[in-house]
Amino acid sequence: MAVLVHLLSRALSTRSLRNAVDRHGIGAAQTFVPAFFSRMTTGGGVRFFGRTIKLRKRGLSAAYAALALAASVSCARADPATAAHLRDQALGDDTAWNILESLTTEIGPRPAGSPAAARARDWGVAKLTALGFSDVHAEPFAKAAWLRGAESAEITGPFAQKLAVIGLGGSIPTPAGGITAPVVVFASLAALLAAPADCCTGRIVLVNQPMTRTQDITGYASAVAARYAAPEAARRGAVAYLVRSISTATNRSPHAGATRPSRIPAAALGVPDAELLEHMAAHASSRGPVTVHLSLASHVENTTAWTVSGEIPGSDPKAGVIVIGGHVDSWDPGTGAIDDGAGVAITMAAAKLVAAAHPRRTIRVVLWGSEETNGSGDAYLAAHRSELDSIVLAGESDLGADNIFQLQLPAGAWAAPDIKPLEAILAPLKIMASPVPAEDGGSDIEAIHGAGVPVLALNQDASRYFDYHHSADDTLAIVDPLQLKQNVAAWAAALDILADSDYAFSRVNK
Ligand SMILES: [Zn+2]
Repeated sequence: MAVLVHLLSRALSTRSLRNAVDRHGIGAAQTFVPAFFSRMTTGGGVRFFGRTIKLRKRGLSAAYAALALAASVSCARADPATAAHLRDQALGDDTAWNILESLTTEIGPRPAGSPAAARARDWGVAKLTALGFSDVHAEPFAKAAWLRGAESAEITGPFAQKLAVIGLGGSIPTPAGGITAPVVVFASLAALLAAPADCCTGRIVLVNQPMTRTQDITGYASAVAARYAAPEAARRGAVAYLVRSISTATNRSPHAGATRPSRIPAAALGVPDAELLEHMAAHASSRGPVTVHLSLASHVENTTAWTVSGEIPGSDPKAGVIVIGGHVDSWDPGTGAIDDGAGVAITMAAAKLVAAAHPRRTIRVVLWGSEETNGSGDAYLAAHRSELDSIVLAGESDLGADNIFQLQLPAGAWAAPDIKPLEAILAPLKIMASPVPAEDGGSDIEAIHGAGVPVLALNQDASRYFDYHHSADDTLAIVDPLQLKQNVAAWAAALDILADSDYAFSRVNK
């Protein structure tokens, strides 16, 4: 009996009692609780089956039965009223902003393997602990870190001008003293790929392909291949590779990013400087050949990176774990506010809100430690392979801090009766329920997704994201606090429903 009383009081003290009050008024709950206890202590037909309270209705008053039913439903299934409440609470909550301000101000740029990444690890452990997360710890993994040195580029002829340049991650350095060579410009990656094998001997290749602005990731997905094309230039005899920044902006900041290893050095130019070179080269016959001097220093260091995580323990240990998070590493020119301090802040703040509603499933917030130069997704799979069956769902926030416009769930999940109400809960946030199943939850969960973990995708509006992504302008100044809150509201409501739902998410066969 003591166990039953404990379980009952625990159930009533949290969501069930609040639901009884929401649905039937405080008076009903006040009469309900003592009646329930007296009924139980006289052995009048109250039983527990796991976490679900089932009542034999004979001999109970109609009101008692209705309240007991409300309690039983809410114990096992997601409650829309609670999720709506968390959504509204998030819209007035500054936690995500404060986390993001702290990370960008106290740590700043934090490439994996840099001294700042170790400080970001300590920051993550301290922040999760201060917010009340459990099992907070850092998971180390080996990292061959590419670390930037001094860089410069300038046009040396026919008209000398300085260029805004940034080396691409993974590029080899130039020889000491740099490389000076004539430039050949291609208007697109396709034009380079179509060029003959001897097109570029002894030259610096520039691919000046603009990027299309889109709300989703497709503009970036189609443009980014140019950043990886140094081996194609090398195959055609080039001595160095330059790419127009993968950017939708026209400001002069060059955008960093990883490239594919090649025997020639590779760097990105600011958009206006790539255009400047194209203009000069277009009139080379009358103005003279265009030559550029490029100097890039970098080194690779065998070191350690860390992924940090913490949990909101679920009330039912057998109900599994939902893994969410962002990546705490960043590129170095900015302070990593939208990529991806925002994802860290949004998911931490949302999980913290849901904690107060005592979720059934455990919610684990993960701060992956090497997304930009790869490694943290694979390391996470390697470290968690033995518990993959208990990870019921995963999601990553990694496309900035602007409004979410769409939620994708695993195939079939929207049809679950206790998940369906999420569509109406998200509608006031201008978020659509996408009928297209989630196939891509973020690069850090790609590996566990490939090993069977279903994913969700709260898709953010990326329309202006690529104006700043990987550039010196990725700072707190471009984060809109209202849109950041909308993100937290969406994650909190979705997490609350998904953590309490009794829907069994199917494993993925990839
Ligand atoms: Zn990112």
